[in-house]
Amino acid sequence: MIELENLGRRYRDRMAVEGVSLTVAKGEIAVIVGTSGSGKTTLLRMINRLVEPSTGLVRINGQPNTALPAQELRRGIGYAIQGNGLFPHRTVAENIATVPRLLGWDRARIRARVDALLTLFDLDPALYRDRMPQALSGGQQQRVGVARALAADPPILLMDEPFGALDPILRARAQADLRALQRRLGTTIVLVTHDMEEALTLGDRIAVMAEGRLQQYARPAELLTAPANAFVRDLLGSGDPALRLLGVQDLATLVEAGPAEGPAMAVDASMRAALAECLWSRRSALPVSRDGVVIGRVTRAALEAAGGRPLDAGGVA
Ligand code: ADP
Ligand code: MG
Repeated sequence: MIELENLGRRYRDRMAVEGVSLTVAKGEIAVIVGTSGSGKTTLLRMINRLVEPSTGLVRINGQPNTALPAQELRRGIGYAIQGNGLFPHRTVAENIATVPRLLGWDRARIRARVDALLTLFDLDPALYRDRMPQALSGGQQQRVGVARALAADPPILLMDEPFGALDPILRARAQADLRALQRRLGTTIVLVTHDMEEALTLGDRIAVMAEGRLQQYARPAELLTAPANAFVRDLLGSGDPALRLLGVQDLATLVEAGPAEGPAMAVDASMRAALAECLWSRRSALPVSRDGVVIGRVTRAALEAAGGRPLDAGGVA
C-alpha cells in the first residue's frame, strides 16, 4: 500500500505539486493523468525519492519512504520511463540484470530471471539476450524497459508515460500485456499518462491532476458518471459515456449459466470487447473463461443492457 499525505514540492516560487493525499491499495493500478506540466512526474518521483518533497510524506506499507536510504528504497521499486531509458552500450540481458546485480544475485539466478522475463514478453531469449538495444524495434525496446523494471520482482512499479512513444497498435498490446502481468504478479503500479483513454483502460483508480493539485481520485466508472468538476469533464472529452463505461467494466458481473458456442472470452476482458465480439461473430452469447476454463456465458442482451445502466456493480466499489 502506498499512502501520499499532503504531498507537495516547491520549485523556486511555485508549487509544482501541492497538497496531494491519496492511497494506492496493494495490487492495484493507480493512474495519474493530467495535462503537461500538471505535476505528474514530480508526484511520481516523490514516491521513490528521485524528488524530495517540500511538504508532507509518502508511506509504503505504513513506513515513511525515508526510513531506508534512497538507493536501497529504489531497489525495491521498479521504475520505467518513456523511451525506455535502456543503457545503449549494454546488451538486453545486461540491461535487465541491472537491479539483480546490485542486489548481488548469483549468475545462474540472474540468467534464469532474464530468460524468464524475455519469454514473458514474447522475446525469444536465444535471439534477443545478447542484442544491443538499438537492434530492437521500438516496441521491443519498450518491453525490455518494463522487463528491466520488473527484474527483481519489485512489489511496486512506477511508470512514467511508458507507452508514450508507441504507435496505437503496439500501445494497445503493451497495455494489455501490462494488465495481464500485473494481475498475475499482484504488483502495485502507479502509472503516469497524459492520455485519458489509457487511464480509463488501465486504471483501477485514476488521479486527475491540474496545476499541481489533485482534482479527483476515483474508479473509472465513477469518473465517467460523476466527474468532480469542469476540468475533469473536459479531460474526459467527448464520446458516448455508456459505451465508454462498457470499456472500463469487465465481464465478471454479467456471467450466467447457459449454453454458448464458439471461442471463449476471458472474464477480465471488457464489456466493450465482448459486445464487439458478439457483433463481429454474429453470436447472441459467448462462453466466458477464467484461466482457460469456461465458467459460464455472457449474452449480447446483457451487454447491451449494461451499456444502458452505467452505475452497475461492475466498476464501483
Ligand atoms: P508533468 O509530468 O505533469 O508534465 P512535471 O511534474 O514534470 O509535470 O512538472 C510540473 C511543474 O514543475 C512544471 O511547471 C515544471 O516546469 C516544474 N518543474 C519540474 N521539475 C522541475 C525542476 N527540476 N526545476 C524547476 N521546475 C521544475
Ligand atoms: Mg511528466
